[in-house]
Amino acid sequence: MPGILIFSENNAIALELVTAGLGLKATMNHSLCAVALSEADATALAAAGADKVVLLTGQDWPEGCAQPIAELAARELAAVILIGGTARGKDIAAKVANELDAGLVTEAQTIEIAEDKLQTTRLKYGGLAVACEATVLPAVVTIAPRTFDKAVAGGGQGQITSLAATGGDPRVKVSELCPIERQGVDIAAAARIVCVGRGLAKKEDLTLAEDLAKALSAEIGCTRGIAEDYHWLPVERYIGISGQNIKAELYLSLGVSGQVQHVAGIRDAKVIVAVDTNEKAPIFAAADYGIVGDLYEVAPLITAALKK
Ligand SMILES: Cc1cc2nc3c(=O)[nH]c(=O)nc-3n(C[C@H](O)[C@H](O)[C@H](O)COP(=O)(O)OP(=O)(O)OC[C@H]3O[C@@H](n4cnc5c(N)ncnc54)[C@H](O)[C@@H]3O)c2cc1C
Repeated sequence: MPGILIFSENNAIALELVTAGLGLKATMNHSLCAVALSEADATALAAAGADKVVLLTGQDWPEGCAQPIAELAARELAAVILIGGTARGKDIAAKVANELDAGLVTEAQTIEIAEDKLQTTRLKYGGLAVACEATVLPAVVTIAPRTFDKAVAGGGQGQITSLAATGGDPRVKVSELCPIERQGVDIAAAARIVCVGRGLAKKEDLTLAEDLAKALSAEIGCTRGIAEDYHWLPVERYIGISGQNIKAELYLSLGVSGQVQHVAGIRDAKVIVAVDTNEKAPIFAAADYGIVGDLYEVAPLITAALKK
């Protein structure tokens, strides 16, 4: 009986869920079952430590997996269902919870079983507070990408079985796939980031940040205003509660005030450096190192020093 069922249509995230699931398994003493959408994914999940992998076939759009996943969870008496918190995953999680009449916890940061309940923590109020919640079992949980480290192949020999998906909506037919074309890299995975905020006076001044980023081998990130209001950078580069969460080794900001919605996205960065003219800017409370100064003076100085 799998006490824990995991699913993400993105296998990199599914491997992170394996790590989360193995943590639960240690206390629940039940097996870990994963749902995969391809043979390669199934093999990777089994090798990473899933005790059992169910390869779902005959379903050509991930949203249609909700019904078969709910049926599988009910049949296998799964107590905890972990789903990757992508846009699709959140949609599926809500449908699975509805089918199972189970509680749904979104964006959990930590999960454990205690007193026969699922204990979770998650951020609230734009990252200002942490909610600690207990949910009766069975419970469905979404976990944001990169909350847990990926489980690595460790010689696991989980059993792989196939399951033909039933249910779904017969009115829905996939006629064409159009992947989103991203401009540039995934900053959520970048090791170093130079982040620009509205302290920058005009778009042409982005070169200042680009020079610094080049000297640091960093990617350029930004605040929401730079991407959504000014359209100086693509939206996938903005960091924060409604943008990307980063896990960089170094985050260096230029003219970013550090409002809570932005800081929520940088709290996992290892070293935070901030440059801002306003010594009272909240970014300095989040920073490991702060420089109170004009970015137009400070950024070229750092770039020159790095080039030496
Ligand atoms: C529901 C909601 C969700 C949001 N989600 C996000 C999100 O995900 N990400 C996000 O970033 N924002 C988000 N925001 C917006 C957020 O509240 C802030 O408005 C935004 O982060 C501020 O961006 P900023 O720091 O670039 O600009 P500002 O707050 O205007 O700060 C500019 C800073 O530049 C400094 N400065 C000015 N000139 C110079 C100079 N020459 N040299 C050095 N410093 C200088 C100023 O002192 C100031 O501190 C959200 C808001 C809401 C309501």
